[in-house]
Amino acid sequence: MKNIDLISLIDQIDDNSDSLVKLHQDLIKIESVNTGYMPTGNETKVSEFCAKWFKEYGIQSKQLSRNEDRSNFIAKYPFSGNNKKLLLMSHTDVVPVENYDKWEFEPFSAELRDGKILGRGSSDCKGLLASQMMAMAILAKNKIEFKDNFTLISGADEEHGGRYGFGWLLDNHPEELRFEYAINEGGGSPVTIGNNLYYLLGTGEKGRLEINIRIKGESAHASVPWMGINAMGSTSKAIDKIMNFVPELDCSTDIFNYLGLFGIETKPSIKNLDLIIQEAYEKNPSLGSLLRALSRMTITPTIIKGGIKSNSVPEFIELVLDVRTLPNQDDKDVQNELDKLFAGIPNISYEIDYMAKPNSSPFETDLLQAIKKSQALSVERDDIQWIPSVSNGFTDSRFTRELDVITYGFRGTHPDDNPNSENVHGTNENYGVKSLISSSKTMLGTIWEICNPIIQ
Ligand SMILES: [Zn+2]
Repeated sequence: MKNIDLISLIDQIDDNSDSLVKLHQDLIKIESVNTGYMPTGNETKVSEFCAKWFKEYGIQSKQLSRNEDRSNFIAKYPFSGNNKKLLLMSHTDVVPVENYDKWEFEPFSAELRDGKILGRGSSDCKGLLASQMMAMAILAKNKIEFKDNFTLISGADEEHGGRYGFGWLLDNHPEELRFEYAINEGGGSPVTIGNNLYYLLGTGEKGRLEINIRIKGESAHASVPWMGINAMGSTSKAIDKIMNFVPELDCSTDIFNYLGLFGIETKPSIKNLDLIIQEAYEKNPSLGSLLRALSRMTITPTIIKGGIKSNSVPEFIELVLDVRTLPNQDDKDVQNELDKLFAGIPNISYEIDYMAKPNSSPFETDLLQAIKKSQALSVERDDIQWIPSVSNGFTDSRFTRELDVITYGFRGTHPDDNPNSENVHGTNENYGVKSLISSSKTMLGTIWEICNPIIQ
């Protein structure tokens, strides 16, 4: 075994930055667009590319799939023991391009412009995948042996519920996901306030429910409306109640124990929460918005459909709501709120579709320590402050957390890049080269810290 240390391995990522950019570009050029309607995705093309790329470094891989065009890519690090310590997660599908005309560049061109790589999927999630692949390849190239194993899995279908990806793996091959720790997308945004640098580690996700409401009426000719029951009546009452919904406030999410780090000195309670959120908005608007989202359930009407003819009283109207719940709330809590809102409104019924359960992992763990050390090395800052954060959206982390795998959303973004300008799921998606490199360094450092390298 050569005498090698973490710093020299991290330096090798800089030496290989051109190959890393090329890898990222090649991944973006594979149009693995997931529309949600089969046939779609073509993630197998990405898996095949990754398999070939890894082979050059002596890393074997396999693919598991529910559908042959939509495989999940799995690469186990070769020079390690069998103790399953760390899972490196990402996904291979991307969301569709909504309006080509609005893009300033060809969405799958992956061109490099002003320190950014442009293209659909560049940020979500092929940047993380490329960074993890390069970290693993550098370790393999140096034949670094580890006591504990780490494995990379890039899943299909993340953008449409994971029924071909991590969700399917959980139901059919749970042993593939059973690691002590996992690191995935969905968190780790840098926040700068003055000279201070904070990272929001993704320790949990809010739940999402879709509510399908049906409001019944009785049709009649619109010239004699009293002969029927206009479903609009109950609909307008229901919408009014929803728009004026006053959620119960809650400050039990971990982030509220760390507000002192942002210079917010008052201890949060239900009584002063609104004032504290106001103070946070003044310091940094995205922090204010985050605290607002993490202190309440949200109920948002998103779709309304009804009426068939301009001269008919509508027989029924359908209304769809998007509901986001905190980690300590479940579908019963949602039902309670809806029943209170709709009490006394006639002819209304609803169904709850549970899309994603809220989920979370503990904050103070060995994985946090490993990430802290590696991120400090990777972005050359030893003054970073760490905050646990629950995300508004959800990722495949909900599937591994179901197996009690401690899973963090952390990508290792460079503080010079602003994740809010990456336009994830939007027009002109892009990803900073600095982040691509810092992320790869962070992944390598985290593996090193957590998987016990055998150094002689
Ligand atoms: Zn994603």
